[in-house]
Amino acid sequence: MRNDHATEEEVVASLPQPPRAVLFDRDDTLITNVPYNADPDLVTPIQGARRALDLLRAQGLKLGVVTNQSGVAKGLITAAQVRQVNKRVEHILGPFDTWQVCPHGPEQGCSCRKPKPGMVLAAAVELGVPPDRCVLVGDIGSDMAAASSAGAHGILVPTSATFTHEIEEAAEVAGTLSDAVHRVLDRSRR
Ligand SMILES: [Mg+2]
Ligand SMILES: [Zn+2]
Repeated sequence: MRNDHATEEEVVASLPQPPRAVLFDRDDTLITNVPYNADPDLVTPIQGARRALDLLRAQGLKLGVVTNQSGVAKGLITAAQVRQVNKRVEHILGPFDTWQVCPHGPEQGCSCRKPKPGMVLAAAVELGVPPDRCVLVGDIGSDMAAASSAGAHGILVPTSATFTHEIEEAAEVAGTLSDAVHRVLDRSRR
């Protein structure tokens, strides 16, 4: 009798390679979104973020941030203020191996602003990790689109501002940032 089920070896061979890097959206993924924030004192981490990130670091995974900051193009914040805020993020959440910041506005047609894949691809190059070994964790559909068009795997952690269609279209959905990180850890230990 013919057995149509794949062998365990075949299943394992068909699985994607374990992730080696995790990229995070910044606002409403790692820290509470304060629109066009220029003040490091207003940086508030998402619950459990530091612990989750430290687990990834301990597992030897590379970490990065990919963030749209169109407030720079709009003249609402300066690039230096964004750097100061990001410095505070690292002070609270620990070091990241790469920071990718898009300072452009949506009308400028740059290749970095999410949902374009530019920042994900640049982070992958900087980390020396192929895009298909990168996971991107974010809170909206443009994060997921940037991941998939770069060839990376997206995990959506919705907030109350995330649209239903974005949740339905996501490759994977996690309940919390910690949940997303544990999903990555499970795969990286395979
Ligand atoms: Mg966000
Ligand atoms: Zn850009």
